[in-house]
Amino acid sequence: MTDILPVIQLGNPILRQTAEPIADLSDELLPKLIDALIATAASSNGVGIAAPQVARSYRLLVVASRPTPRYPHAPNMEPTAMLNPKIVARSAEVVKDWEGCLSVPGIRGLVPRHRAIEVEYSDRQGQLQRQELTDFVARIFQHEYDHLDGMVFLDRVESTQELVTEQEYQKMMNGA
Ligand code: ZN
Repeated sequence: MTDILPVIQLGNPILRQTAEPIADLSDELLPKLIDALIATAASSNGVGIAAPQVARSYRLLVVASRPTPRYPHAPNMEPTAMLNPKIVARSAEVVKDWEGCLSVPGIRGLVPRHRAIEVEYSDRQGQLQRQELTDFVARIFQHEYDHLDGMVFLDRVESTQELVTEQEYQKMMNGA
């Protein structure tokens, strides 16, 4: 059985720290942490998670887009662990869409993000990867990447008028 880790919430100072690069990509503790992150995101209907959210302040995130009750229109992909990720290029085009966060329960916000990004990271085998991400997957990456720099989506909303509760968000989506 893979561990499901407790997710820390806004107010915990670890979420505001700049996470440390992973110095040793072959550290034997990494596969277990990666599997635990994937299992933790899946168990909470999340589509991504960053290591600082489980109180491990390392530059490691997981993008795991799939349709869930929280994100019914998300595209399906294999959960992908990205170690020491970097954004190497950003589209000029910025789009606003709703985001939530396992560390900020009960709140959704309209967040502007680059529509496309080019990213570089080491995969769980330690191989350097370079990839273009677009739309929802690019949004997930940018959201999780912010966690590595001590930011949450609330820091990116343009107006507090663009924050809603989960309950109102669900009403809005079901009415649309
Ligand atoms: Zn988050």
